[in-house]
Amino acid sequence: MTASVRARPGRLVLLGHPLGHTLSPAIHGAALRSAGIAVEYHALDVPPDALSDTLDRLIAERAAGNVTIPHKGAVAARCTRLTDVARRAGAVNTFWCEDDALVGDNTDVGGFDASVRELLGGAPRAERVALLGAGGASAGVLTALERWDDADVRLWNRTPARADALAARFPFARLVGRLADALANATLVVNATSVGLRDDAHPAAVDALPSGAAVLDLVYRPGETAWARAARDAGHRASDGLPMLIEQAALAEERWFDATADREAMWQAVGGRPAWMRTANR
Ligand code: NAP
Repeated sequence: MTASVRARPGRLVLLGHPLGHTLSPAIHGAALRSAGIAVEYHALDVPPDALSDTLDRLIAERAAGNVTIPHKGAVAARCTRLTDVARRAGAVNTFWCEDDALVGDNTDVGGFDASVRELLGGAPRAERVALLGAGGASAGVLTALERWDDADVRLWNRTPARADALAARFPFARLVGRLADALANATLVVNATSVGLRDDAHPAAVDALPSGAAVLDLVYRPGETAWARAARDAGHRASDGLPMLIEQAALAEERWFDATADREAMWQAVGGRPAWMRTANR
């Protein structure tokens, strides 16, 4: 048996629909320039009914790339081979070609882990996690959480049936019917809903957050999400989803080119690290 050969991509794409404004081309462009790699990364807005043909073309070109809403599950179903985390999450955010195979990975999982460590200032320990949301992002978070030591996870979603389905896949997470029951005594509160993406809405009232809890919003917006800012103003360690976005992108670069990505250049492409990350004693 011969080992499969990862093709060096001649083209990098982001597949999503609708894409609107995305930071990914700027972040990846910075990493590629820093590494001296003359490959372009560009966004491809692909409606669901065009996904299969688009993937055929990309495989023929030996392209690689990222995947975002709503295609992460469909690309996972299409891949010939999945990494363990992509299989567990049921979602692919990073793909490449090996021989004739389409390989799918999920670097959101590692991106989430890294952003939690950054926020906590070290490895998570016996965290009591309140996880809000039951979509694709929440499945990625649960894939990370089940690898932690002694995490006690309570899962809440606006639509209970969707939370039921996710908890059936990740039985270590305890389903709760009320947001207040998820938050009670939590040491880490994670917003994996899309609340706050388009406006300043908060996924949970800041005065309902347990004292001392770290707050991680997966949503990101220019100038930070209102919820992350309000939580920090109330004395919590808090981050929006930008550190996770940068890290999942850096991990994707490392999958494609097998070399350490220049995270500093990637941060500079979005205006630099937020103040809380630059402060040693936060
Ligand atoms: P998704 O599959 O569409 O799921 C959306 C989730 O948000 C569902 O749980 C949904 O609840 C909930 N929701 C939407 N509107 C709500 C409202 N008004 N009140 C309460 N809950 C509401 O999306 P996803 O892929 O999981 O992504 C979720 C968020 O994570 C997005 O904003 C995305 O940008 C962010 N994300 C960030 C990163 C990063 O790198 N930082 C990576 C991945 C995702 P229902 O089931 O009740 O509809």
